[in-house]
Amino acid sequence: MGTRLEGKPVVQFLRENIKSRVRVLEENGVFPTLLLIRVGEREDDIFYEKSILKNCDLLRIKGMVKQLPSSVSMDELTKVFKDVNHDSAIHGIMIFRPLPDHLDLDIIRNLIDPVKDIDCMSPVNLEKVFEGNSTGFAPCTAKAVIEILKYYDIPLKGANVVVAGRSLVVGKPLAMLLLDENATVSICHSRTKEMPAVTANADIVVAAIGKAKFMTEEYFKENSIVVDVGINDDDTGKICGDVDFDAVLDKVKAITPATGGVGIITTTILLDHVVQACEKLTGVSKNFCLK
Ligand code: NAD
Repeated sequence: MGTRLEGKPVVQFLRENIKSRVRVLEENGVFPTLLLIRVGEREDDIFYEKSILKNCDLLRIKGMVKQLPSSVSMDELTKVFKDVNHDSAIHGIMIFRPLPDHLDLDIIRNLIDPVKDIDCMSPVNLEKVFEGNSTGFAPCTAKAVIEILKYYDIPLKGANVVVAGRSLVVGKPLAMLLLDENATVSICHSRTKEMPAVTANADIVVAAIGKAKFMTEEYFKENSIVVDVGINDDDTGKICGDVDFDAVLDKVKAITPATGGVGIITTTILLDHVVQACEKLTGVSKNFCLK
């Protein structure tokens, strides 16, 4: 029976660290603040927004929402970013994506102040990930994968890791973060030939392809460590990962569950980034206090 790599203890561990840093900020009269920008009323966005705000409360981070109609113009959105970039009371900014088609994401990505860009939307932060420069903000999901592996003491140095999926949000930046940890990284994608032969050779497989229960037993070996990033609906509308968890659990060394795995860590990383942004912008941090 493989081990379930649960996200909850990782979240608890990260939360304790965040709480102690928030305490220091508060003692110095600084209150970390996140602004969420939501365009329209997409159900997924509202669900994620609620979860982020609940977590903000838990961690004593001020969470605010700027709600805009789905008809908002580029000019209006540009003005919103200008205002919030300059508002010193706001430390972290995130806009829910995807955005309505009439809004040009390539322009919007450049509107956000990279120092407040806690979800790695700005090309400045993405470039830093690819340069191996840790002074920016990496995409939260990619970082959540690294955190779960580190928490469970899974060696990365020299490990053969296959990342299945090459999106700019998960697969590619994750491959870069794994390289920074000195792993030997391969990327698989929709045109990869005989993917099971590639993944079954790896020590660690990260699934980020967005296909419900796609990766079955043949993709793994007895010693595989599997991190499933996928969040999909199965035939019955239940949430499932990219890996067929029930079929694979017994056949691998360890695997993250689709619910309660990587996903719950992602939000905590986002809030860790808010606190980091606040520390950078105010110069107050646990190791260096103004007082
Ligand atoms: P995406 O659709 O942008 O990219 C999917 C990638 O998978 C592509 O690079 C594609 O080449 C590859 N792919 C598709 N079919 C494949 C196949 N049959 N074999 C090999 N590769 C294949 O998706 P994304 O935004 O990177 O998200 C991936 C998954 O992760 C989705 O299920 C998404 O819901 C989930 N996700 C989870 C979190 C989280 O916090 N846990 C965050 C973001 C995304």
